Amino acid sequence: MKRGNVIKPILPILGLTLTLLSCNKASEQAHGVIKVPSQIITVNEPTDKMAEIINNSDLAIDEKQGNISVYNHYASNFIIAIDPGHQAKGNFELEPIGPGASQSKAKVASGTCGVSTKVPEYKLTLEVSLKLREELLARGYNVFIIRETDDVNISNRERTVMATEARADIFVRIHADGSENSSINGILTICPTIHNPYISQLYVQSRALSDYILNAMVAVTGAKKRGVSEVDNMSGINWSTIPVTIIEMGLMTNPTEDKLMQTEEYQQKLVIGIADGIEQYFIRNDIVY
Ligand SMILES: [Zn+2]
Repeated sequence: MKRGNVIKPILPILGLTLTLLSCNKASEQAHGVIKVPSQIITVNEPTDKMAEIINNSDLAIDEKQGNISVYNHYASNFIIAIDPGHQAKGNFELEPIGPGASQSKAKVASGTCGVSTKVPEYKLTLEVSLKLREELLARGYNVFIIRETDDVNISNRERTVMATEARADIFVRIHADGSENSSINGILTICPTIHNPYISQLYVQSRALSDYILNAMVAVTGAKKRGVSEVDNMSGINWSTIPVTIIEMGLMTNPTEDKLMQTEEYQQKLVIGIADGIEQYFIRNDIVY
């Protein structure tokens, strides 16, 4: 969402005088210029969750008041693209790892598998992604989800194209990790490096998105914080045209975490953490517009 080129008059809201910022996407949608993909579900009733997060944050009073007004008016104009990682069958045909790249990688890898539960990663990622969609809709956001079934064949590059065509503001890719060391556990997020040859212009926002989501997830779940990994060899990052993060929710090769990630209670914590992180990202980015 780009803001700042058209400013509406100052309006009194919540007994305060605040300047409202504009939203290109909102006005374009209102005039029917943009064809919104049918998968996007719109909810125009934002909740008080944002106000709660802002009030608990370390923002200055003016920022809190200003951003509450922005949220109340514009949360429904954000579109979040969710990519449930992998699919029932990997596709090992090759595609370039980025625009103009000479290096290629498999279109979609198979993903990992639960060492105890035997649940494949693609099932876990879809389950959590569908819950995340519900949570974000309940908070007033629009959501575009890349897949709703396991039986698809969509390459990592194609997923970024879908997110772009959906006019999403951010691309959140849901994965779980695997390791030869079964004792490793915890949450990791991934973004490009500042020197990424394809999307270095999205580094700052992608890093911020990765940080906010990681921190919020760790706060809600109590999981170990593995940090933000910056890499340039991920097709689903390099082809992105919007701020992007990969969330490695936990280690499916760690028996305890594998079983935990299959519980309803823990999945809900993961979802709340991701949604909190996304909201914090939007709040903080609003300040610089
Ligand atoms: Zn994965």
